Amino acid sequence: MSDDKILIRGARVLGGDPRDVLVEGETISRLGTGLDADGASVVDADGLILLPGLVDLHTHLREPGREDSETVLTGTRAAAKGGFTAVHAMANTFPVADTAGVVEQVWRLGQASGYCDVRPVGAVTVGLEGKQLAELGAMHDSAAQVRVFSDDGKCVDDAVIMRRALEYVKAFDGVVAQHAQEPRLTEGAQMNEGAVSAQLGLGGWPAVAEESIIARDVLLAAHVGSRVHICHLSTAGSVELVRWAKSKGWHVTAEVTPHHLLLTDELVRSYDPVYKVNPPLRTDADVMALREALADGTIDCVATDHAPHPHEDKDCEWAAAAMGMLGLETALSVVQETMVDTGLIDWAGVADRMSLRPARIGRLDGHGRPIAAGEPANLVLVDPAYRGTVDPAGFVSRSRNSPYAGRELPGRVTHTFLRGKATVTDGNLA
Ligand SMILES: [Zn+2]
Repeated sequence: MSDDKILIRGARVLGGDPRDVLVEGETISRLGTGLDADGASVVDADGLILLPGLVDLHTHLREPGREDSETVLTGTRAAAKGGFTAVHAMANTFPVADTAGVVEQVWRLGQASGYCDVRPVGAVTVGLEGKQLAELGAMHDSAAQVRVFSDDGKCVDDAVIMRRALEYVKAFDGVVAQHAQEPRLTEGAQMNEGAVSAQLGLGGWPAVAEESIIARDVLLAAHVGSRVHICHLSTAGSVELVRWAKSKGWHVTAEVTPHHLLLTDELVRSYDPVYKVNPPLRTDADVMALREALADGTIDCVATDHAPHPHEDKDCEWAAAAMGMLGLETALSVVQETMVDTGLIDWAGVADRMSLRPARIGRLDGHGRPIAAGEPANLVLVDPAYRGTVDPAGFVSRSRNSPYAGRELPGRVTHTFLRGKATVTDGNLA
């Protein structure tokens, strides 16, 4: 048995026919059938799906500053357990990741964790305050090699600042990831604006608050000739705008979260703050539009928006509760439930939407690659026949704010490999 030689036996590569995959060191060395173990340690992958390691464009790891909710170590462990081999860590930490120093700190913590590669996202503006551009070039030139910039949690609402950011990142093929939320239209907003908010008497968050910013930003990206990425699309109207921008040939990409593919604002009737999230859960019609758009490629990828919160920030009354939900450890199961088991996409589609495309948007080397000889062995094995009830007590995240607690979901990550090293085996952290 050897640690640096692994034979994955009989895996359904991208959901296809069973094949053997030999990993030597950090690299996939051979694919075939009936490969000889020849001293390799063997992983019996009968009935399991083999995918490239998942890539998340949108993760909140909370370090530095909110280590009570998550750290780079606990967050990357959660990522590995969910099948991820690379995550982009959002910039809304304390201090904000708006300098080369902070992004390098996060990047180094990721390197030290060994569970999952961490690519820091740099803030667009100093302190996420929306007033002054941060040192985008310095963050790009740092060891962290930042390519994605976002004030996520807040919207870059000033059109001139947004234009300048789009112009600036062109120099190094960066992308601005926008959290589309018109701030004046969402003052005091607590949930989606619609029939349910009217009945509950909670402040409404209109779809137009998201859509108006997307409309403006795709036009700005076209005007400047730069790349814009729209975070967490949540409405049918947002889908139409992205579809239109893409039809023009503009460099616009978009993501959807697992929770917006499954959950609706009907859940808010429970007043359980676990369902409080930004952007809010929308309607059934929005959910269906988002699924279709992910299937037809209008939405490029799934991104978790993993947002850990300690229980004192969530186990309180609705109005006072923090916004956000855990996502890393359940993302693949939710995508199987909403997209694969419904027949909207196949497992090759999952690889495309959860690995290849997010890696391409983030210009991330070594991830989101085909499963082929000579490629880095960033891989995940999934048992699609598994069904189980989600129990956050078993999570490795430091937080427990999962909206799926008690819900039955399909699929289970059995193994994750980061450059040939197992980070998860038999469903447990290695
Ligand atoms: Zn956001």
